[in-house]
Amino acid sequence: MKCKACGEDVDVVVRASRGGKTIKVCEDCAERIHEEAEIGREAEGVIGRTMEYKGGRG
Ligand SMILES: [Zn+2]
Repeated sequence: MKCKACGEDVDVVVRASRGGKTIKVCEDCAERIHEEAEIGREAEGVIGRTMEYKGGRG
């Protein structure tokens, strides 16, 4: 099986979603894609938290 992210031939591929599409990648790439997704979600969370904070005291 070929990893869709790095293009390497690997024995085991796992599914990861990137850009709304599910792709089959090696475990290394899956981990990285996962981390990138987490970072994106955190960035969104910061905006939400800032708004919450404003409304909390005043
Ligand atoms: Zn890979």
